[in-house]
Amino acid sequence: ARKSTSQGMLCFSSRDNHERRPPMTSSNSIWTVGADPQIEQLIRQEKERQMTSLQLIASENFASPAVMEATGSVFTNKYSEGYPRRRYYGGNAHVDVAEQLAIDRVKQLFGAEHANVQPHSGSQANAAVYMALLDVGDTVMGMSLDHGGHLTHGSPVNASGRFYNFVSYGLTEGDERIDYEEMRSIALAERPKLIVAGATAYPRRIDPEPFRKVCDEIGAYFMFDAAHIAGLIAGGQHPNPVPSADVVTFTTHKTLRGPRGGCILSTESLAKKIDSAVFPGNQGGPLDHVVLAKAVGFREALDPGFADYAKRIVDNASALADALANQGFRLVSGGTDNHLLLVDLRSFDDDLTGKEAQEVLDLGGVTLNRNTIPDDPRSPFVTSGVRMGVASVTTQGMSSKEMGQIAEFTARILRQRDDDSAVKAIATEVADLCAKFPPYSD
Ligand code: PLP
Repeated sequence: ARKSTSQGMLCFSSRDNHERRPPMTSSNSIWTVGADPQIEQLIRQEKERQMTSLQLIASENFASPAVMEATGSVFTNKYSEGYPRRRYYGGNAHVDVAEQLAIDRVKQLFGAEHANVQPHSGSQANAAVYMALLDVGDTVMGMSLDHGGHLTHGSPVNASGRFYNFVSYGLTEGDERIDYEEMRSIALAERPKLIVAGATAYPRRIDPEPFRKVCDEIGAYFMFDAAHIAGLIAGGQHPNPVPSADVVTFTTHKTLRGPRGGCILSTESLAKKIDSAVFPGNQGGPLDHVVLAKAVGFREALDPGFADYAKRIVDNASALADALANQGFRLVSGGTDNHLLLVDLRSFDDDLTGKEAQEVLDLGGVTLNRNTIPDDPRSPFVTSGVRMGVASVTTQGMSSKEMGQIAEFTARILRQRDDDSAVKAIATEVADLCAKFPPYSD
């Protein structure tokens, strides 16, 4: 049935299906990645890239070997539509225990009444909440996308913006913080059925209380999207929105440092609505291997040492902000309270776009993403800014000294962006720094 080609690749043919199958054991060489040189090479290359360059994308992190082991386990083979002890498939004895473990651990972590650990991603989690609490066409309020809100907070190219009538609040012009007054007055005028707090590119603490008060005033649901800051909340660095929000969604792979995925926490009174909106509303079978790995990640975040990790993230972000400001970059809002920074490149070099900066920094071993800054005169594809996050480099063990070096590498690459060999030489210096902080022991 399966054969290696001369290139070592797997091939399937209908004629082969009538031949005797090889034993399906892991000792069979065609079942190993090593029998597929293209894939083996890709994994080696990606590992090399991650180990030799700086990972500053604010939504990324290095998952622990335990999280990766669970993600790569035999749980990937299982189907388990439904919920623990209420499945549509047999053979779920162990999956039930794994999912219940993940639920119990995340409820303990955030002090939540109810948890759904099945969303495949943060976007799926948000879509399920909208489906649970809204009807198509309802008015919803979220943070404006060009002030830091996420695609799933009403972008016209996202299902959220297609199915619901999103209105938005934004930042103050002066200090570039959430304008809670404006949020209240728009809410009073528009009467949204749900207000979303949370952002994808906002470097400051988000206070849940003003949102709760406005929601109570107009009788709206309050959803807090903690995708980016879940780890900072779990580690006690940011206020926990669970006691004030009706629903909290988050991703498990950013500052929380678990496997890629989503999660929804809610009050007990909304539990049934949320669960039915995830399955069968938005998804089929859960990714059981990822649910297992979420249980691992939640256990790691419950460890007392995680609070120290969260503090080191915030300290590093703040040190990086100071060091970048010293290099002549303007930081949106003047700094950061969380794991990320939004850098306005115009003060450094008016001609430099976010797109060009991202591309040349990548060549120099500094990996980040371009990002619009509030009221950006350039398009979202070009932008005047970049976003930097420090969760990954903090996991590697870097601290304030290395944040200074990162700011210096960034400035030097951008200043010498027209000189290929200078940029390549800096990439070697970056690799030398990374070699001192391997995230994995082998
Ligand atoms: N919500 C916010 C605030 C995010 O920043 C993100 C992702 O970056 C998401 C939701 C979506 O998460 P995912 O990419 O897992 O769908």
